[in-house]
Amino acid sequence: MGIIAVHGGLDTSRDKQYLEILQDAALQGHGLLAKSRVQALEAVLRILEESPKFNCGYGSVLNFDGVVEMDAAIVDGVFSRFSAIAAIRDVHNPVSVARALMEKTKDVILAGDGAIKFARKHGFPTANCVSDEQLDAWQKARESLARGEKPTQNLYTGLAYHGDTVGCVVWDGEGLAAASSTGGCSLKTPGRVGDTPCLGGGIFASKTSAVVCTGVGEAFIETLTSKYVDEVIAGGSEPQQAIKSALKRLHELKKAEGGILAVDARGRVGSAFNAGQFPVVVVVDGKLLEDYQPVNLRQELSVH
Ligand code: ASP
Repeated sequence: MGIIAVHGGLDTSRDKQYLEILQDAALQGHGLLAKSRVQALEAVLRILEESPKFNCGYGSVLNFDGVVEMDAAIVDGVFSRFSAIAAIRDVHNPVSVARALMEKTKDVILAGDGAIKFARKHGFPTANCVSDEQLDAWQKARESLARGEKPTQNLYTGLAYHGDTVGCVVWDGEGLAAASSTGGCSLKTPGRVGDTPCLGGGIFASKTSAVVCTGVGEAFIETLTSKYVDEVIAGGSEPQQAIKSALKRLHELKKAEGGILAVDARGRVGSAFNAGQFPVVVVVDGKLLEDYQPVNLRQELSVH
């Protein structure tokens, strides 16, 4: 029994080939849910990190200097456990490094060279995360900038309608947990850390809900959006209402685009976005919900 909901990031394609990877990941994760929430989350995100189609692991967008720097985090709402890895390079599975951090140390966040050193010590090999497509997109963007033009690539996906940050929430009938993994925003400043490893910003889980967000991280951090969703649910709202209210608030405060996915302690799933696309798949008791669609608030909350 239990629920797993996975998103493929803001402005990620909803083409069959993307949805199928998300569905496969969610079903595989569901098979592990009875064993462990964290193990299930890790399994889902590892599949997405290995795919060049999503902005995480291999397939991450490149920063301004042409380097992949990734963020990932895991939260277990039952035990109030959190672990995050920020601006890590040259590993395929930042989510697994985050899990190792949670299970092997008392540290909560490791960044940059320290995170890489920790990963090597715990057996994560050096791995190339620069996909050909993202390298090509970065080269074109830098050429545009050199000509004094604005790059045409998508901020989140690095490419037009490709894949972005991934996130997953689970409810196993007893408790809630969440995990996310990302290459961040395309052409970001080297060393920049987004909302994915910021508890309460882009990710949160408690005994009330599990929440994951995607969009420009700075807006989520400065508005503590995932924590806000949890508080609204704790106040009696359904996840869907809480997410709508959070996106409205994000729009009012920051004029920002975002996608949010949440599940609560009654197993109710909500998801919405105010950008181009936001693919979400939901598995309940081992079965995929056919045609599940997040609510599109782009008309109401347009940022353009
Ligand atoms: N939130 C991520 C970041 O700012 C990027 C995204 O979800 O599009 O790093």
